[in-house]
Amino acid sequence: MIPELLNDQKSYFKTGQTLSITHRKTLLKALLNQLVAREQDITDALYNDFKKPEFESVLTETAIVIQDLKHTIKKLNKWAKPKRVCPALLNFPSSDYLYAEPYGSVLVIAPWNYPYQLAIAPLVGAIAAGNTVVLKPSELTPHTSALISDIIKTVFKPEHVTVVEGGVDTSTKLLEQHWDYIFFTGSVNVGKIVAKAAAVNLTPTTLELGGKNPCIIDDTANIKLAAKRIIWGKFVNAGQTCIAPDYILIHHSKKDAFYKAMKHEVELAYSTTPQQSKDFARIINLKNFERLSKMLTNQNCIIGGQTDADTLYIAPTVIDNPTLDSEVMKDEIFGPILPVISYQNDSKLETIILSYNKPLSLYVFGSNSAKAKQLIQKFSFGGGCINDTIVHFANHRLPFGGVGNSGLGAYHGHYTFDTFSHKKGVVKKANWLDIPVRYAPYNGKLDLVRKVLNWL
Ligand code: NAD
Repeated sequence: MIPELLNDQKSYFKTGQTLSITHRKTLLKALLNQLVAREQDITDALYNDFKKPEFESVLTETAIVIQDLKHTIKKLNKWAKPKRVCPALLNFPSSDYLYAEPYGSVLVIAPWNYPYQLAIAPLVGAIAAGNTVVLKPSELTPHTSALISDIIKTVFKPEHVTVVEGGVDTSTKLLEQHWDYIFFTGSVNVGKIVAKAAAVNLTPTTLELGGKNPCIIDDTANIKLAAKRIIWGKFVNAGQTCIAPDYILIHHSKKDAFYKAMKHEVELAYSTTPQQSKDFARIINLKNFERLSKMLTNQNCIIGGQTDADTLYIAPTVIDNPTLDSEVMKDEIFGPILPVISYQNDSKLETIILSYNKPLSLYVFGSNSAKAKQLIQKFSFGGGCINDTIVHFANHRLPFGGVGNSGLGAYHGHYTFDTFSHKKGVVKKANWLDIPVRYAPYNGKLDLVRKVLNWL
């Protein structure tokens, strides 16, 4: 079924119907109408999948997608228009252009943690750029996956956009096909599987992966505000956010004040019984619950630490000074557990951060701007914030993506359109003048060429 589906999409692409900007915009508007009309269904599906609070679903999934779609529809003419660039003097007289062309057949594989937004946002970019798309949502969020499939069917012909639901087997079969572009969001390990499959056909890929994101709090930080902003960025979606702060590195002089502020802010956000709070999501499945629960063994939980397997609940938890070889400090946590490690000097900070692969994000809290800037420039990471967490995601003018192990490529705003477009560089030569220097016979011309090159 999958090879036939791809063949249909390739044939449809060849008809050129995806190339019309007007047609792309008409479909994007139809999609927008559907997504707006079915917002409640979407937030219900997310709740049914992992008790995601409606407020978080609107803020981090539906609203982001709607804004993104509106922005794409508004800017599409401009993005798709051939862009004139400054010509090279050596080519005088010429006018030079960049033409954006769609790759062709795009495969989008999405994860479960923001199962709606991380499926639809790349899809929007791929369609805007004129591609056909097969989208595979995560099998771990079946309600959202089924709803996405239903919505897509109402807007697109299957030979243009199709949702293929399923798990690893389906994903594996999809990856065996020859795509023109693959956009993958998920774990580092599966990212490597995708990269290997793509290499067989030299298919270009975007890999949006994860990592262990450090959050530095220096001795000049506003601790109360830091605690508030860290708690939101860490515990939204129950910590199952690729850019959530993974661990805190705090100047030892601020640790006690930070714990006090964290306790106060956690209670303010989720009450003294977070299990009863309607504003705190659940862990996606038992496998992840067990993986996370193991991280709590033999740890000093300053806040939280309670778990309930029946309801897949893990309390918002803060762990004091875990050892670097403990379970919680080995891999990306991806849950509501926040280890805090204190440091006295920058060399410890550096040793710890550099002992991990390049993270997807990094955060610095401090009121010394020069120091914060120095830290931001010292370490390599996908993107991040000074004095806040995760909000860099919300600015469509900033490219979103990882570096090294945390990913390859970036998207959001016009970067998404660029991701799904090949840029053809074209020189348009004028005929009214033809400078003869480059043509053979070359005799006696080299000195002149050297002089011109030196002068340029
Ligand atoms: P995952 O890698 O397990 O799954 C992602 C997708 O790949 C799913 O659709 C799944 O069906 C498919 N898949 C799983 N195993 C596969 C295999 N062996 N072969 C082919 N396909 C396979 O990731 P996840 O658990 O859904 O998401 C969590 C991870 O994703 C975390 O590491 C997180 O940091 C990362 N993530 C990154 C971003 C980002 O934007 N960079 C966003 C969200 C999540």
